[in-house]
Amino acid sequence: MNQQIFQTPIEYLRGVGTARAEVLRKELGISNFADLLRHFPYKYIDRTRFYKISETNPDLPHVQIIVRLKSKEIVGEKHTKRLIAQVYDDTGVMELAWFQGVKWVEKLLIPGKAYVIFGKPGSFNGKAQMAHPEIEPYIPGGTKQSGNLKLQPVYNSTEKLKAFSLDSKGLQKLIAILIEQTSRDILETIPQQILQKFKLVDRREAYHNIHFPADSATLMVATNRLKFEELFFIQFKMLKNKVQRAFKFKGNVFNTVGDYFNDFYKNKLPFDLTSAQKRVLKEIRLDTQRGIQMNRLLQGDVGSGKTVVALMSMLLAIDNGFQTCIMAPTEILANQHYQSIESLINDEFLEVALLTGSTPAKRRRVIHEKLESGELKILIGTHALIEDKVQFKNLGFVVIDEQHRFGVEQRAKLWRKNVVPPHVLVMTATPIPRTLAMTLYGDLDVSVIDELPKGRKPIETLHFFESSRLRMFGFMKQEIAKGRQIYVVYPLIKESEKLDLKNLTDGIEVMSREFPLPQFRISIVHGKLSAADKDAEMQRFVRGETQIMVATTVIEVGVNVPNASVMIIENAERFGLSQLHQLRGRVGRGAEQSFCILMSTQKLSHDGKVRLDTMVKTNNGFEISEIDLQLRGPGNIEGTQQSGVLDLKLANLATDQQMLLVARRCVEEVFEQDPQLQLPENQILNQASLTHNGGLSWDKIS
Ligand code: ADP
Ligand code: MG
Repeated sequence: MNQQIFQTPIEYLRGVGTARAEVLRKELGISNFADLLRHFPYKYIDRTRFYKISETNPDLPHVQIIVRLKSKEIVGEKHTKRLIAQVYDDTGVMELAWFQGVKWVEKLLIPGKAYVIFGKPGSFNGKAQMAHPEIEPYIPGGTKQSGNLKLQPVYNSTEKLKAFSLDSKGLQKLIAILIEQTSRDILETIPQQILQKFKLVDRREAYHNIHFPADSATLMVATNRLKFEELFFIQFKMLKNKVQRAFKFKGNVFNTVGDYFNDFYKNKLPFDLTSAQKRVLKEIRLDTQRGIQMNRLLQGDVGSGKTVVALMSMLLAIDNGFQTCIMAPTEILANQHYQSIESLINDEFLEVALLTGSTPAKRRRVIHEKLESGELKILIGTHALIEDKVQFKNLGFVVIDEQHRFGVEQRAKLWRKNVVPPHVLVMTATPIPRTLAMTLYGDLDVSVIDELPKGRKPIETLHFFESSRLRMFGFMKQEIAKGRQIYVVYPLIKESEKLDLKNLTDGIEVMSREFPLPQFRISIVHGKLSAADKDAEMQRFVRGETQIMVATTVIEVGVNVPNASVMIIENAERFGLSQLHQLRGRVGRGAEQSFCILMSTQKLSHDGKVRLDTMVKTNNGFEISEIDLQLRGPGNIEGTQQSGVLDLKLANLATDQQMLLVARRCVEEVFEQDPQLQLPENQILNQASLTHNGGLSWDKIS
């Protein structure tokens, strides 16, 4: 199989040359044949049928309609001069408008005659309207209406490209040349039996038809095939990694449930586990008995009790003679883990140590020694854990908190701390939809805690408009009088940083006036402060010395101040859903009823309204992440940016969830039947994945 041809630099395509190649590369990132072949139309113009006026609406693409002219009129003077025509068919009336070529079009229009118009439907004053339609006399029974036989592809282009005659039509011409020249080389990548099972068309045909569809049915079939391929190969790559890992690495076997675990479970655990916690523990228990290294993602909302599950798994590892560690993304978080785990274990014979950037050298040395001798069994810390100096005697279980802040490389570094790589549990409090998890963490097993401990009071979320600000201040005073603490969060978004900083400064001023010393004390934290000042201000709030914390979004993920029971989010309409949910998660950690107040302007965009309504309606992070995915598309979901995986050209993780599940299942079946890919029918996959890199493109071979 020779796919070299698709890596041919684009300048060698007939009709391109150096100048055009340069601008194709700069403007569209097209540098070789494969890139151009995969420059898919972003829309198609439907000339396959005639619409009726009553069928049209502003959401449709360009359509054609047969109409009869009722009247025409030139209105306005000079700059505002335009031609307005009233047309109708047997279903309704429509207004047409031209602002240019007025004289010329006007001559063409004869009242009473029939025309074919072609353009994008719109509406004006509630009436059907079309601006600048193409128009030509209707020839009854004639099939020769110009260009009306096909879906016309429309390609992304730019002004610069147009200067090189590479508008949509120009690009289409190049693609036609390319397909003609390379058609023979577009080889199949998916095994026949899978193609048959899902009635997928041949790959060559799909590439041809997505660029030059005969009709919308053909187009759909072609698009489906190529979407499937994209999703299939992402899953293929993920599962192949996973299967290979299982062959390559043994896993420590945790046979015994011993004293540490039992003592904790029977004598120390201060509450009953939720059934979700029990289920996840069971999953981990099974994983760690199979002799295969565990790589598991644990998702659960803030407060769902992930830490206890992690701790109990660690105790299991210790019972089997292994050391364990937890890595957190920041010092504050490492500290909090340290404190809560220390107090949960409460055992003078089981030491818990904290290792961060600010651990003094002397203490550090002691920790290093105890790790090497195997005496220290629980280490909690930050990146400091993965430094080469830190050596364990027998590290068996690793917990990574807040995965998305760590890169894959850092995960791998922890593995290498032991001959047999330790089991890895990744915890995240940013729930993501199942299909997204499958794509981003497809090589991990996923556990979910989808239940909060009993008796937890759900956070009450309210949405106030600016006009209710005084009411909001009143509420704050009432809660402070009860001894509670309050967060007030302002957006700070790069693009509008100056304005945001001004808003923050104004906000602080208003707050200081409304909540004056000495009765009230306010902490202020924002990105312009030094790390030390930030920390000092945080600590004042943590210690309860201040009642209000005014901050930009720098509030640490996971920071725990149980007495803070009110979260006020200013300009809430400007935050993304997952951010709002994360922020809300800062409260609701104590025994008191907690509140989240979303302040917004009166005028909201559609999406802004959906976001705020969703927050008011639900506390469930998974539900929220699904809606977030629908609203924003997968590329913007937190934690996905650094992942090239989501560089999908055709498939959409929000709308193609069903297909993703099918593709995943399909790949799973392949590996269940043939884990080493040795069967003849699977050779095509070995070859395709070599040049295919997860279905993305031919040239980025990993
Ligand atoms: P997460 O890490 O998922 O945010 P934590 O493990 O920190 O959640 O738990 C939040 C709080 O709830 C902690 O104080 C913890 O002790 C408590 N908790 C955990 N599981 C339960 C449970 N099953 N019942 C009652 N309280 C629980
Ligand atoms: Mg936690």
